[in-house]
Amino acid sequence: MKQIYFTPGPAELYPTFYQHLQTALDEQIGSISHRSQKFRDIYKFTDAQLRTLLNIPDTHGIFFTGSASEVWERLLFNCVEHESFHLVNGSFSRKFYDYANSLHKFAHILEKPFGEGFDYTEIDVPEYAEMICVTHNETSSGVQLRPADIHKLKRKYPKKLVVVDMVSSAPYPDLDFSLVDSAFFSVQKAFGMPAGLGVWIASQGCLEKAERLKKYENLTIGAHHTLPTLWVNYKKFETPATPNVLFIYILGKLAEDFNKIGIDTVRKQTEEKARMLYKFLDGSDAYEPFVQQERHRSQTVVVTSTKKPSAEVIAAAKSEGMVIGSGYGKFKDSQIRIANFPATSAEQIDALITQLQK
Ligand SMILES: *Cc1c(COP(=O)(O)O)cnc(C)c1O
Repeated sequence: MKQIYFTPGPAELYPTFYQHLQTALDEQIGSISHRSQKFRDIYKFTDAQLRTLLNIPDTHGIFFTGSASEVWERLLFNCVEHESFHLVNGSFSRKFYDYANSLHKFAHILEKPFGEGFDYTEIDVPEYAEMICVTHNETSSGVQLRPADIHKLKRKYPKKLVVVDMVSSAPYPDLDFSLVDSAFFSVQKAFGMPAGLGVWIASQGCLEKAERLKKYENLTIGAHHTLPTLWVNYKKFETPATPNVLFIYILGKLAEDFNKIGIDTVRKQTEEKARMLYKFLDGSDAYEPFVQQERHRSQTVVVTSTKKPSAEVIAAAKSEGMVIGSGYGKFKDSQIRIANFPATSAEQIDALITQLQK
């Protein structure tokens, strides 16, 4: 049976993906050189569509990587000399912090229990931290950090780089890139593509920092995908290594589809579907939303405790053609996670709610 995937990545493919894939194959995009004008035009198009969609100013470049977790390493290598600071409240934000330790940075941590979120007023950033690492949407626990709080961090600490993991929410969060130095995502979450491409947005300030660090004899900014090499190539819409040309093409087409709908509408639809889900879960005896504070509840990954073992809920949904995610880590058996990405319609969310009600 054909399933609808409500899993938080890989996820349901966006409905127009098939058509764009077909066009790309017809145009032999899998075979073109990444040093050809055809590729430069594709990069340029995708860059322009993403700029419109996410309101990215000219001060920021848009680069392609293998995945989002690669960007964790790139940011730490390129933009941190000694110290980073991490807001950690789940498995993904923790991994970013773990990467910093692995790269021998001095990583500061402000930690909250699983299922709890951060508010601006409780965040004190250590004096010597150079980079503030935040996760807009903690996919493991279903907690979001409001963009307004992220922006306030930059206003309070203008000299520090503010970087945002928006992997499981982009294009939903309305970030003001005059107050965000870098943000990144993977395409297999809310963009509704298969995995295999990371997108890294970074400011001139990030580039300047990388160039400064590169000059230090005892410090490495890495070899693969350094910001200076990405930027030099980006100026001619090329990439240092052979990129995933096919996916860069499709991402541009999907971003164009979102732009045709209008990002405001895409965001409103996301909020409306999230409202439907939380309303049902709040009113049900069989479920309880994991995140207590409404302002911290994710709009794109809804996590709920289940009264029955979650495996039963998941199996029942699957037999009706709906795949939902299990809880993360130690919550595997007691929670489910429901992705609320643009690829699934309000009607499909409604059908899922009917199923969960049974
Ligand atoms: C999925 C995810 C990542 C990692 O993305 P990859 O594509 O696996 O590298 C990072 N952060 C968050 C919040 C995620 O949901």
